[in-house]
Amino acid sequence: MGAAARQSLQNARMNTSKPLQGKVAIVTGAGRGIGAAVAGALAREGASVCCVARSGTELEQVVGDIRGAGGSAIASVCDISNPSSVEQMAAFASSSFGGVDLLVANAGVSSDGKPVEESDIEAWRRTVDVNLFGTYLCARAVIPAMRSRGGGKIITIGSGMGHRARGGLSAYACSKAATWMLTRVLANELGPYGIDVNELIPGPVVTAMTATDFASQHLAAPALQDEWFKSPKDVLPLLLFLATQPPKGPSGQSFGLARREM
Ligand code: NAP
Repeated sequence: MGAAARQSLQNARMNTSKPLQGKVAIVTGAGRGIGAAVAGALAREGASVCCVARSGTELEQVVGDIRGAGGSAIASVCDISNPSSVEQMAAFASSSFGGVDLLVANAGVSSDGKPVEESDIEAWRRTVDVNLFGTYLCARAVIPAMRSRGGGKIITIGSGMGHRARGGLSAYACSKAATWMLTRVLANELGPYGIDVNELIPGPVVTAMTATDFASQHLAAPALQDEWFKSPKDVLPLLLFLATQPPKGPSGQSFGLARREM
């Protein structure tokens, strides 16, 4: 048994009252923003967390904070759009902690805000590659580990822009719309194995991805007027609600924190 698995087991023995004690979570995009907050929250609730992103420096900070607070975490530097990198990441998480129970497919990138006619072809493709294909790869990679545990949960981080058309950000909107369909297809396929799959729509959250956009004319009106501009920690109650639902809880559903369908 590896050091991380021993730590996980020891944590489980020390405190059995936490709702996610003994569970193993993978959080993609855990280096900053919503994903970093989610990784910390899952660890506080007892989960052992594999934190995933491309930036090792940001991951080390997040993992260090979790461990410093008595939690259990490891870092996996991985580009989620790369199939072999994702397979290695999932195997690392599973072998380090003895399985996988929860995937929060959070890693994502935005797009340039230009209308389709002016959009950059490679940037468009890259957005879909990370947001849709990356989510598909991560879900695909954890299914065997979840099946062998007899169940699990996958939470995809969607966007209101995946549910309603609005000019600009076409690559982002299309990637999130397809991810919402992927969420429902996965729920359908994985229900028989006890794996529940749901989408969480955060609504506007001020992070590195959005801070400049939210300050700009382009997104300030009209769709975001009257919106609740959140910090990453405001997403945590809904995330933890979904992560702690009983087996055969909701699946194939979208849960949102936006004040309106954006
Ligand atoms: P963020 O602060 O920019 O964080 C994004 C995270 O994803 C980073 O850790 C980043 O790390 C990682 N990432 C990006 N590309 C990656 C790749 N190819 N492989 C692995 N990791 C990758 O963004 P955020 O605002 O927290 O957004 C998180 C999720 O919430 C995204 O899916 C976003 O679409 C969704 N969302 C956000 C808002 C909002 O208002 N903020 C609203 C709706 C939905 P590296 O760059 O180091 O890889």
